[in-house]
Amino acid sequence: MEEKIEHVKCLIIGSGPAGYTAAIYAARADMKPVMYQGLQPGGQLTITTEVENFPGYPKGTQGPEMMEDFKAQAEKFGTDIRWGLATSVDFTGPIHKVIIDEKITITADSVIIATGASAKWLGIPSEEKLNGFGVSACAVCDGFFFKGQDVAIVGAGDTAAEEATYLAKLCRKVYMIVRRGEMRASKAMQTRVLNTTNIEVLYNTQTKEILGDKAVEGALLVNDRGEERKVDVTGFFVAIGHHPNTDLFKGWLDMDETGYLITVPGTTKTNIPGVFASGDAQDKHYRQAVTAAGSGCMAALDAERYLASVGVH
Ligand code: NDP
Repeated sequence: MEEKIEHVKCLIIGSGPAGYTAAIYAARADMKPVMYQGLQPGGQLTITTEVENFPGYPKGTQGPEMMEDFKAQAEKFGTDIRWGLATSVDFTGPIHKVIIDEKITITADSVIIATGASAKWLGIPSEEKLNGFGVSACAVCDGFFFKGQDVAIVGAGDTAAEEATYLAKLCRKVYMIVRRGEMRASKAMQTRVLNTTNIEVLYNTQTKEILGDKAVEGALLVNDRGEERKVDVTGFFVAIGHHPNTDLFKGWLDMDETGYLITVPGTTKTNIPGVFASGDAQDKHYRQAVTAAGSGCMAALDAERYLASVGVH
């Protein structure tokens, strides 16, 4: 059977703030963008609650609702938004080949990468075994299931601090497991944590094992003096940062040692002409919705200029 190939002017991979903003700009510039949403349509904001720092929302807004608004705006200008995951790429020639779900072939004059980043895990066997059975990387998604119970959360950044205070509203007690003697989170977030009476911060502490066979029944912790302590929890949350979703581009695009795509400073250009990178996939410093949106806009403008330069109208 002959392979069916669809050609597009502008292909956007990923659907967080970067992808949708690129789509809004590309669609308005008549680039007829086609977007594949990826594994988590709407991206990481769909698993947060209150967003208070996105300009234009003085009363704050909910992450999932904000992403629905982004999507509606991208669709309004004609973006063709589709389910599907990019599974491999071939950036050999001027026409870029992207395979979706291992079976659909798209060729594109320009590609905008907006694949974002995903949660990191501790990497202990019990974490994997109990994932979905009390172990979670999203307090906002799963906190509800532990209403009135005792839970633990690992991490000391803004995400962990935010999620600890979120859990504290639902749960009886929250143990916050911090591996160093201090938190990395902003002072404001730390203050919020320390002022929440049902959060107990355990500094210089690491997780040895998550206990339980079919569901979480506790966690075995160890401090830097080698002293072990068991906490009786039914939920165990991991909030230790993220890694960029760029494995797909290994061997094609320049990336740093942790997988963040490298772009020409001040632009979204990658080492392949016509392929642009935006959002958290290429930003390990700021990682905010507003900066991701800004770089999505840059990617669409860079792609538009590229298409004009190679005579694609
Ligand atoms: P960060 O990378 O900032 O923090 C990760 C935390 O996890 C660190 O405290 C780190 O410890 C800890 N950690 C990493 N690996 C392990 C491990 N194996 N065991 C135990 N602890 C571990 O990630 P975040 O997701 O918190 O934040 C990412 C970015 O997003 C930041 O720039 C943050 O400011 C921003 N953000 C902003 C928010 C807001 O403005 N409302 C909300 C949420 C995030 P250590 O400190 O020892 O390295």
